[in-house]
Amino acid sequence: VNFGDELVTRDEKTRRVSAVFSSVARSYDMMNDLMSGGMHRLWKDRFVARAKPRIGEHVLDMAGGTGDVAFRMARRGAHVTVADINADMLEVGKHRAEAQGLRGLSWEVQNAEALTFTSGKFDAYTIVFGIRNVTDIPAALREAHRVLKRGGRFYCMEFSTSDWPGFSKAYSLWADNVIPKLGKAFADDEESYRYLVESIRRFPRPEAFRRMVGEAGFTRASAEPMLGGLVTIHSGWKI
Ligand code: SAM
Repeated sequence: VNFGDELVTRDEKTRRVSAVFSSVARSYDMMNDLMSGGMHRLWKDRFVARAKPRIGEHVLDMAGGTGDVAFRMARRGAHVTVADINADMLEVGKHRAEAQGLRGLSWEVQNAEALTFTSGKFDAYTIVFGIRNVTDIPAALREAHRVLKRGGRFYCMEFSTSDWPGFSKAYSLWADNVIPKLGKAFADDEESYRYLVESIRRFPRPEAFRRMVGEAGFTRASAEPMLGGLVTIHSGWKI
């Protein structure tokens, strides 16, 4: 499988992704603001508006990291389980939740490919900027389907390449030249940010990923591309 532009074994990829996020955990939130010019906040707001978590619902926020999406859903009254393969990211998230006085969140170390939750447990499954890091994406989608109740919904937001030519070019320049430098200057870690940029370039375009969601058993799989597909909100239902 690919790790950035290198070919590595599956286990090696999972290990390296984990090292990337351990390395970036403490600077992660600030870097998100720098890399996206603050836009990730608007994308996450829109995502949560689409996923519509309701009071009392049980939501699994997979690859939830430091909790950005989970916090928005918890504020709407949902019970959110934040699950991530990386304990360092969750640790940062727990401190942020405490600082913001947020309650009703549970935190779990989990691999999206092989969840330990019982089947049919959640009303909604969300995964934001996480699935492109997963080694076996079809396995993660099948697991998402398994842990949802009947009538449950899947919502995913992920980067890919944009099909707006001028914009795509500008973004590439930014991603290849500026983001790794920001990583070096603010997080002392150029390599991890190179990996993150490369993983965005390799992620399937909206229509291809929409098909993968359907193949995992979801119905009404749909894709809402933004900025020509640079960021897409995917959804599907378990019936
Ligand atoms: N959802 C958060 C957000 O939007 O701010 C965090 C996104 S962060 C870019 C990606 C997260 O995916 C990291 O916290 C990483 O540890 C997690 N991750 C990577 N591979 C994973 C896997 N196989 N299972 C669960 N989480 C994984």
